[in-house]
Order: sequence, then C-alpha cells, then structure tokens
Amino acid sequence: MKVVNYYTPCIESFDKTGSLKTALSTNEQLTVLKKMAEEWGIDLENAERWMKGDEYKSQRKLAVSFTTLATEVVDKVESIFGKKLEGEVRLSPSLMRFDGFARYDSGSHAVWFGIDHPDADEGYLKALMAHELSHVYRDHQPKVWSFLGKPLTDVSRKEYLDAMTAHEHITSEGLATLFSQLVYPEVPLHLHHYYFPEEMQWCLANYSKIDKAIIDCLKTDQEIWKFYEDDIIEEGSPSRTQYYWSARKINEWLTTNHVKSPSDYKTALIQAHGWHAGEFLCFQ
Ligand SMILES: [Zn+2]
Repeated sequence: MKVVNYYTPCIESFDKTGSLKTALSTNEQLTVLKKMAEEWGIDLENAERWMKGDEYKSQRKLAVSFTTLATEVVDKVESIFGKKLEGEVRLSPSLMRFDGFARYDSGSHAVWFGIDHPDADEGYLKALMAHELSHVYRDHQPKVWSFLGKPLTDVSRKEYLDAMTAHEHITSEGLATLFSQLVYPEVPLHLHHYYFPEEMQWCLANYSKIDKAIIDCLKTDQEIWKFYEDDIIEEGSPSRTQYYWSARKINEWLTTNHVKSPSDYKTALIQAHGWHAGEFLCFQ
C-alpha cells in the first residue's frame, strides 16, 4: 500500500499563506484534498480557526510524528496478512471532520486518514489505520464479492455500495475491530472502538440491550447503519454499537468453533477475513 503525505505540503502552505482556503487552492499537490473537502462540504473557515488555536499545537505535533510512523503501521499490517495491499493511504489534515475511512473504487481503495483529528492520539491512529487496512484486505479476498460475477477491477464504487448488505457491513466492521486489537493489543479497548472510556463502559454494561436491538434490526428492516447514531438503543447509548456487537459475536464464535488453542486465534481471524458474510453463522 502506497503512503501519500498530503499533510506536510498542506501545513507548509498554510504556514506560508496563513489561509487554509488559499493553501488548498494554490498548491497543486493538494488538488485531490481540495476536491475531497468540497465533496464533504467542509467549513474551511472553522477548520482554519481551530488550526490557528492553541489546542491545535498538540494535534499538529501528533500529525507530524505520524507522517513517519504511518509506513511502519502499514508494513506491520502487511506482514501480518502476508500480503501487500492494493491502493493508497492518504495522510491528510482532518479539517476537523474525518479521521479515517477506506474509499473503495474500481478494485482499489484510497484510505483517507486525518492525522491531526481532534480526538486522536498515537494509539487511536494506529488502531484506526489497522482497522481500515483490514477492510482493504477483506475486500480483495476472492469469496467476499464473487457474487457480483465479475473481477473487482470492473466493480464501480456505486455497484460496491449498492451491493453492501447489512451482513457484509457487520462482518467487515467486526473483523476490522478485532484485527486492530490483534495488531495493537497494548492500545486500550475503548480506542479500538473510537470511544471515550465511559462510552466503552456503557457497551460492556449493556450488551444484552445492544444484542436485542441489533438482532431485531437484522430480522426486520436490516437498516444496520442507523446504529451509527447516538441514543438508538436508549437515551445515552453511544454511536457505532454495531462494531462492538459484531466484534464480540465473531470473537465468541471463532473462539468456540475455529480455535483449538489460543495460538490459533491469529490464523483463524486472518482466514475469517476471506469468508463470505453468509458463512458467519454467529449472525444467523
Ligand atoms: Zn470500519
């Protein structure tokens, strides 16, 4: 996976011009980032105010150090999978909006990675990058998208999104959440879920409520993406509870059915990345 650094040219142009808008529209290296900011409707003036403020200093320091650390993370993940991943990791300013996501198009992924995100620290960024790369690895496993009946390079972004089912969503997010824990066991659990400690605590204490709500959803409208919102399970429940739920389901199922000794777990988790969503009997 190629690592492309948009952060350094952006922050250099920003320092020189004092304006984020000017930096993005005058530095040709940043054309892709500018397009992406427009696509997301990002408020550049707000981001600029934040980047000029005192609290940004620590996030800038983190981002600068992560521009060198990123290659190490990619190498570590690729050595665990035993495979070079296809596509590009784009280190970028978060513009206060995005931390990480793998954007699929025509058989390749651009992993946008906002390395100065307000919520991020080093453990968060490492866990998130391992998570996104797990999605990339899974998408290239032969059984995952074979039902589309053509090579992945011929599958457009729209076809991919249209073909995304609730079961593939929970399978891929559960695996990615478990994979980052495998790569970085020293990073605290809440950071593998992008939570504050109290949000993690809520999930641990209310598993049966999450379980009921998600099983109901899978049996009815399958609108699993609603769990990205806060307060879906009940007032005060955190967003993204489907990640915690599916990771826990897969973990329990793999450990019971596919792992004979703890040393098999890593192999089982990597193999499971190649199984079709319908094979995950833990979600049936
Ligand atoms: Zn994910």
